[in-house]
This record gives sequence, C-alpha cells and structure tokens, in this order.
Amino acid sequence: MTRAIYPGSFDPFHHGHRDIARRAAALFDELIVTVFDAPAKRLLFSTDERIQLAREALQDVQNISIVSYSGLTVKWAERHGVRVIVRGLRNVDDLSFESRIDMANRYMAPQIETCYLLCSTQFAYLSSTILKEVASLDGDISGWVTPHTAQALRRRFA
Ligand code: ADP
Repeated sequence: MTRAIYPGSFDPFHHGHRDIARRAAALFDELIVTVFDAPAKRLLFSTDERIQLAREALQDVQNISIVSYSGLTVKWAERHGVRVIVRGLRNVDDLSFESRIDMANRYMAPQIETCYLLCSTQFAYLSSTILKEVASLDGDISGWVTPHTAQALRRRFA
C-alpha cells in the first residue's frame, strides 16, 4: 500500500490544488493533504479554516484525508511512514523552485521520493495569490474555487 502526502499552505485550496489532489489520489492508495501551519508568508485563513476549505473541496474523494502539520515536511513523512511527496508544477519557475527543495529533502531523507504532476492547462496561471487579489477586488472567482470557498473569501474581504 503506497501512501503519499500533498503538502502546501493552501491559503485557500483552489481548483488547481484540487486537480492535483484528485489525480494523485488515483495513483496512490491513500493521499494525505498536509496543510502547513506556519509558512513564511502572510496568511488569510487560519490553519483550521484552510483544513475545512480543503476538506469541503475534496469531500467526494474516498482515499483523501486532510491534516495540518508543522516542522519539516520530510520529518512528518518519516514519522508517519510515508515515502512519497506529491507536488504540482505550473511552469519552469515552479520546476526550478521545487528542484532545490527536492534536493534538500533528499539530503535529509534519501528514502523519500517527490512525485510531480503537471497542472492541467486551465489552471496553469492560477495561484492562491492571484485568487486572493481578484477576490479582494470583488472579481469573479467562481471558476477557481468551490462556492463554499468563494463565500469564505467574499466574507473575508467584505
Ligand atoms: P506552497 O506550498 O508553495 O506554499 P501552495 O500551497 O499554493 O504553495 O501549493 C501547494 C502545491 O500545489 C505546490 O506543489 C504547488 O506547486 C501546487 N499548485 C499551486 N497552484 C497550482 C495550480 N494552479 N495547479 C497545479 N498545482 C498548483
């Protein structure tokens, strides 16, 4: 049985994330979406809120669970017997950034592999940053997030 984690800040979880999570869940026996509690960036949503929004977006997928974590991703994976990390790639900038993290991770935990899924073309430009910026200016975000998350964003920027 192969378990994989899909780590990120997910502030908030959008359709680009959902696309990667669903495709990874089809490849592995179990996928755990791990929501990093304290990324080095300003957050709009609390850890609990980010978990709830991801949970709602993925409620139809049986073999996905969502948890929060702190500390190094590879240490969490080691403690929980997980050997695969899933990451999404939008473009070469992502690849360049991710490859450095991957090498550092491999230095710390050589037995853990990172598996990359290329994003679907319709989400290639989508980031949580763009999503929040458009939402803050009352733009149409209905194609990027679930109605539940759209409502949470609207409330946050009301
Ligand atoms: P980070 O983990 O860098 O803080 P996110 O939480 O936004 O960033 O992203 C988590 C993962 O989802 C990363 O692997 C990221 O590349 C991927 N991702 C982000 N946006 C998209 C998208 N539009 N399509 C596919 N994957 C994405």
